[in-house]
Amino acid sequence: MSVSTQPKSSAPPVRTAHTQHSDVLILGAGVMGLSCALQLLKAGRSVTLLDKGKAGAATSAGNCGTITPSHAQPLTAPGTVSQALRWMLQSDAPLRIKPTLNLERLSWFWHFARRCRDDIQEATTRARAAIALQSRDLLAQLITDEGFDCEFVPQGTLHVWRNQQEFEHAQQDCELLNALGLPVEIKDAQQVHALEPALNDQVIGGLYHTRDAQLRPERYMAELSRRVIELGGRIIEEQLIDRIEHQQDRIQAVHCGQQIYRANEYIMALGAWTPKLAKQLALSIPIQPGKGYSMTYDRPQYCPKIPMVLEERSVCVTAWGSGFRLGSTMEFSGYDESMNRQRLNALERAAREYLQDPHGPNKEQEWYGWRPMTWDDLPIIGRAPEQQNLTLATGHGMLGITMSAATSLLVKQIICAEQPALDPHPYRPSRFTEKQYR
Ligand SMILES: Cc1cc2nc3c(=O)[nH]c(=O)nc-3n(C[C@H](O)[C@H](O)[C@H](O)COP(=O)(O)OP(=O)(O)OC[C@H]3O[C@@H](n4cnc5c(N)ncnc54)[C@H](O)[C@@H]3O)c2cc1C
Repeated sequence: MSVSTQPKSSAPPVRTAHTQHSDVLILGAGVMGLSCALQLLKAGRSVTLLDKGKAGAATSAGNCGTITPSHAQPLTAPGTVSQALRWMLQSDAPLRIKPTLNLERLSWFWHFARRCRDDIQEATTRARAAIALQSRDLLAQLITDEGFDCEFVPQGTLHVWRNQQEFEHAQQDCELLNALGLPVEIKDAQQVHALEPALNDQVIGGLYHTRDAQLRPERYMAELSRRVIELGGRIIEEQLIDRIEHQQDRIQAVHCGQQIYRANEYIMALGAWTPKLAKQLALSIPIQPGKGYSMTYDRPQYCPKIPMVLEERSVCVTAWGSGFRLGSTMEFSGYDESMNRQRLNALERAAREYLQDPHGPNKEQEWYGWRPMTWDDLPIIGRAPEQQNLTLATGHGMLGITMSAATSLLVKQIICAEQPALDPHPYRPSRFTEKQYR
């Protein structure tokens, strides 16, 4: 049954003082929520965003800011589980799964482990490459067209190694990446130092992914928010959504304490928090927070030019004109809000192993964020099963900034009933309830 939320008479709608209405209500104002808002405002819809904190200030702020279609290969790779088990007792390991009896987390790991197979990995890589590549070009276009001041630089990313055997092993993936339209150049020791003089002499080679790019994420968030407001969007901060009211197959309202928000269409873009509210709609959204850390400094004297991944330590290094950031580590420990000093220290230790000057003299910020991790390492984009007026834009894991522009275009095309520019099938929210997929 379809229940309209629009008033039936032509008389102005009668609403209580604390009820507000818009065409589209977006739950969550991270990079997904803000990007969807921008697309829909440009399509002529009225848009309201709700966030329990400040817009763009959660996971979308302190991340590494790299735009990396080159990361198309998913975490669900053969060998990930055995590696994670070996690292289980090492508290500063790049990937850490904290032992748990939590049933949701156990079920997530079980499904994740089942997907760590060669055949599934290749299909997942293709699906991730498709959205990440389209998104990289859309991001560049958007930032240029809007004149966003967010330190966007399309100069690639460089993955570097200290261990010859691991470097040679990684080169096996180059053929697939090149075939997917993700050009990668192999650099020996001399070439890698010529490309990036900030590396120390322990580095023996690297892979240069030329289609990648970088931006400063907190600046990008500020520019997106500014433009959303300029176009008439409303961003309502410090609004904790506590209840979603629904009747049969439609959402009727979203409640934030005494405030009630109604819309014709709803978008859930709550990142790692998505399952908490999706539960109220009995939606199966298998997302676990994948906790990562970053530390931000002013620029070191020998500052890297190109964003880098220090491979054996899985640490990302990004330098902008305005600063320098070390980030990464992946920890599955539920919604744990503590700062783990050992994991923060591991970032600096890794930088010392690869760089002449590991960080700037002044530390500006220590940060953690929760990546919204699905067990298949694919995002969740599309109409929610059994909720006609709800679209999901979540589960982007390690590539939320990278995939944001293509995600928001797809969401706009779904809501405006347009032909999608990208095959939406791999990202469909219904996959988690399909027997053959689980
Ligand atoms: C260390 C680290 C490094 C990373 N580096 C990169 C990178 O280099 N490149 C890249 O592409 N990606 C990177 N990522 C991943 C990227 O940051 C995320 O995928 C992305 O930010 C997710 O965006 P989002 O909008 O889905 O979630 P968020 O930014 O977390 O937004 C969700 C919003 O929902 C709000 N919310 C939640 N619950 C409620 C509620 N009940 N009521 C109201 N509001 C609510 C939150 O306050 C939040 O603002 C990194 C992540 C980490 C942790």
